[in-house]
Amino acid sequence: MLQKYFASIRLAFALVCVGASLILAAQWLGFVPDAAKLEMRARRDLSETIAITATHQIRNKQWIDLQRNLQAIVDHHPTLLSIGVRSNMGTLRVDAGHHAGIWPEVISMDDLSLKNPEKLVINEQKSVGVETAFVPIHLNRRPWGRIEYCFHQPITSTLGQALAQPLLRLVSFFIVAGLFSYTLFVARMLGVFSSTQVVPDRVRQALDTLAEGLLVLDESGKIVLANQAFAAIVGKPAEELESKLADDLDWIQEDLDQNGASPWSLAIEKSILQSECMLRYELEDGTERIFSVNAAPLGKGKSGRGALATFRDVTHVEEHRIELERMLNLLEHSRDEINRKNEELQILATRDSLTGCLNRRAFFEEFETIWEDAKNEGKYLSCIMIDIDHFKSVNDTYGHHIGDEVLREVSRVVRELFQEFGLVCRYGGEEFCVLLPEHHSEQAVMQSEKIRAAIGKVRLEDPAELRLTASLGVSELRFNATEPQDLINQADACLYVAKRGGRNQTVLFNSSMVVEEDAAPEETITVSRVEIPYKAVTALMSALSFRDTKTAEHSRRVSDLCARASEGLMDISDRYVLEVAGLLHDIGKIGVPDHILFKPGALTPEEWEIMGRHDDIGVEIVTGGFDCPELSSIMANHHAFFDGKGRETDLPTGHDIPVGARLLSIADSYDAMVSDRPYRKGRSHAEAITELRDCAGTQFDPELVEHFIKKIDAAMPETASGAMAIRKLAAIEIGSQIELLATAITASDVNQIQELSDSLTSMADSIGLSSISEAASHLSGRDHELVTSTELLREARDLVDTCRSTQSNFLRLSLESQADQTETPKVDR
Ligand code: GH3
Ligand code: MG
Ligand code: MG
Repeated sequence: MLQKYFASIRLAFALVCVGASLILAAQWLGFVPDAAKLEMRARRDLSETIAITATHQIRNKQWIDLQRNLQAIVDHHPTLLSIGVRSNMGTLRVDAGHHAGIWPEVISMDDLSLKNPEKLVINEQKSVGVETAFVPIHLNRRPWGRIEYCFHQPITSTLGQALAQPLLRLVSFFIVAGLFSYTLFVARMLGVFSSTQVVPDRVRQALDTLAEGLLVLDESGKIVLANQAFAAIVGKPAEELESKLADDLDWIQEDLDQNGASPWSLAIEKSILQSECMLRYELEDGTERIFSVNAAPLGKGKSGRGALATFRDVTHVEEHRIELERMLNLLEHSRDEINRKNEELQILATRDSLTGCLNRRAFFEEFETIWEDAKNEGKYLSCIMIDIDHFKSVNDTYGHHIGDEVLREVSRVVRELFQEFGLVCRYGGEEFCVLLPEHHSEQAVMQSEKIRAAIGKVRLEDPAELRLTASLGVSELRFNATEPQDLINQADACLYVAKRGGRNQTVLFNSSMVVEEDAAPEETITVSRVEIPYKAVTALMSALSFRDTKTAEHSRRVSDLCARASEGLMDISDRYVLEVAGLLHDIGKIGVPDHILFKPGALTPEEWEIMGRHDDIGVEIVTGGFDCPELSSIMANHHAFFDGKGRETDLPTGHDIPVGARLLSIADSYDAMVSDRPYRKGRSHAEAITELRDCAGTQFDPELVEHFIKKIDAAMPETASGAMAIRKLAAIEIGSQIELLATAITASDVNQIQELSDSLTSMADSIGLSSISEAASHLSGRDHELVTSTELLREARDLVDTCRSTQSNFLRLSLESQADQTETPKVDR
């Protein structure tokens, strides 16, 4: 605005200068009369007129009338100060307006008379601000005197004189008034007072021809011009839009920038071109138009003079773009969906659904690559097999859903440990296999111990008391595995050793095997023997458990007995095969019909025959399932009699019977003897041993019977110490407590169980039975409000088992020490 004023003033000044020059030129050319000359003439005319009138009165000597007339003339003419009538003698005959005091002395009569007596003489002297003149008077053609005039010479300063000049006054007036009036005029022309006049009509008409909407805005964002295209787009007349703020139109606010600034206000504010800004405008009918807006600042510098904004209606283009974007989004979404599905499929195909670990197929695929890499590059590669200890009892005690929970939790901790550098596979039911590239055996053992510690720390919310341990086997490439499966089998064999060694431990392939190899260098593990995957064995055992729990338990015990009895007798791989044979020797019972398998009474000969077939079925299963002739041979021959006089005559005899089969036969018979049957109570350990010895040489290998007895005895912890005197009465006392405890367990009488545990604790303490004392005091100290009764009953059952085995041991040793005595106490196991 101010700039516009300055522009107007500049223009007005130029016009004034032109005007003033014209005036001066006119004056110079003589078109303008000289005011001084005019004044001079007027004075001369006045003086002469007065002189003519006065001459008459002088001639008539009418001095009083003359004085009065002259005074009246002086009074009437403001420029006339005084008039005096002076005779040639110098006598002032008439004085009007105090002429005597004003008339300067310097003008002598001589001067007056000599100079052009006919004419008016005007004295040039202006010392006292008085201009003088006189007209000579002639009476009768003779000079009489003169009439003197004193005129005002009011302006004495240069400026005053200058201003007194009419031309200068005119020019000054013209400059001042012209400047003012021209400024107003020009400002009006420039539209300073009316915004709509900023844009000249010609420009306006030109802008109206544009197809794009266009707004010219002033520095405050007010519309000074809206072209016809813009008016048509927004559906409002251009006149209505002008002088409104562009921001106040119906723009959709969220399209403005984060500070709510429009492109044109940014252009004005920052003097920067704003281009291709998308804005939506809401029409009166509620529909929206989309514009691509360019806003260019007008004027330079920070404080621009407004902006020019163009509006390209891109509604259709935008709608198409949005539609296209939507389609693209849909496409992307469906592509993501496909990817996700593919990933899910990939997971389904490669992961175990329960634990999220790699399944065996995916594991072996990756294993192959890692194996090749390790072999070719000479890198380390280790393998860890993990098996949760007594996991079956978790299922039995808490149910399979808790078992599943445990598997998930265990797999989670294992995966967390190795997700960055190892492969974790669910190898079997509760077995996991971890492959560790670039790990040598020591590092693998360290990792294995980490796993063991992590599994030990696994806690479930419910049951909170559940504690887990795991056994682990570690193998490494340098132990000469020839293919991936070998490496796993080696770790699996170590795992088995860990189990046999008391569980909850890690066994490294080389260290545990080296001892064996040192002791008997020829006893090396051959790949074919180790190739009995333990998980396949447990799978068969699970099948047997579902079919016939008692037989499965019996098989477990037999396997344990075989494991113990074979120590020092066979190399580790033979022992492994024998243990497996112990587990699977009755697997053929899967094929025996229920009415025979679970018959409470004695079997008929026909039924025995069918039952007898289970051995063949077992051998068939094992031979078909495992490529291990030793295992099949033990299975097939474990019913062979040492002296060849058994039921099956086509079997080998004596030392031709494989040693494993001979040992299995003893263990199987021993466990059958000491176990309860539906139709009879199990015999005591001592009775069973006596029976074994009785049959030594006929049914059993006599040497092996003795070896068996020795090994079984050595495994009895309380008796192994031999530090304690065994008394029959103590055994009987324990027996009576067991009976009471068993009755209380059957009745689920928790209070009674705790009372009995108390008395058992003190009794066990008194005879130094620490295992019973610890178990019993633990049980009596349990707050049965806090622990579940299932848990309490389980512990009570364990206590009964401990008591039973201790008791039977006591009895056996007691009997042996009194070998000569004839009577055997009849206390059942
Ligand atoms: P140990 O290894 O210490 O010798 O004893 P264990 O009881 O852990 O061994 P065993 O191999 O006899 O038992 C494994 C059990 O794991 C048998 C089977 O019922 C159970 N099992 C296998 N797969 C699953 C599963 O997916 N969920 C549940 N809940 N149990 C399973
Ligand atoms: Mg297992
Ligand atoms: Mg297990």
